[in-house]
Amino acid sequence: MERLTIPDEKIEGGVRRTVIDLREVKKNAMTIYWALKKYEDTGLDPDQIVELKERDTAKAPEPAPLGMEGMVCPTCGCKAVPWAKFCDECGQRFVED
Ligand SMILES: [Zn+2]
Repeated sequence: MERLTIPDEKIEGGVRRTVIDLREVKKNAMTIYWALKKYEDTGLDPDQIVELKERDTAKAPEPAPLGMEGMVCPTCGCKAVPWAKFCDECGQRFVED
């Protein structure tokens, strides 16, 4: 995905926004409009998209805590079967062997 905006820079105590050249924004207005429309058409807000991205990023099941056997989902902690591609409870994608 090509960025159309400039990410904020994290600084001590907050974030620094880059000064934006309005002429450049106007020049690319329709490109920005169509990218925004595509996003809005999903009906999701940024937090939901981040959550889905996290869930779809493969993670390895972790060894179960003491007193439990096998492996557990690293996201929700429920029992994970080694051959499963996703967690039955939360949908977390697991790495494939
Ligand atoms: Zn899970």
